[in-house]
Amino acid sequence: MRVYCRECGCKGLNKGSDHLSRDFVKIYYTCSSVHCGHRWVSTVTFSHTTTPSSEQVDRIIFDRLRELPKAKQREIFAQLGAA
Ligand SMILES: [Zn+2]
Repeated sequence: MRVYCRECGCKGLNKGSDHLSRDFVKIYYTCSSVHCGHRWVSTVTFSHTTTPSSEQVDRIIFDRLRELPKAKQREIFAQLGAA
């Protein structure tokens, strides 16, 4: 991810990061311009899922199936050819 200095517009150089959680990271930048010298901290946070993880999809399907009555589960498995 390219970041630019808000003071002069030059490229920011990543000087390290603190992963405070899976969803929140502090990134330390130094301006690439030796004439500017601006240093700052930016944050990256999780916003929202655009495509769920396949593990998440499997869990959702399993949880939904488990919540169904046994007869409905058997009907679905029969339709899938698994019963
Ligand atoms: Zn700068």
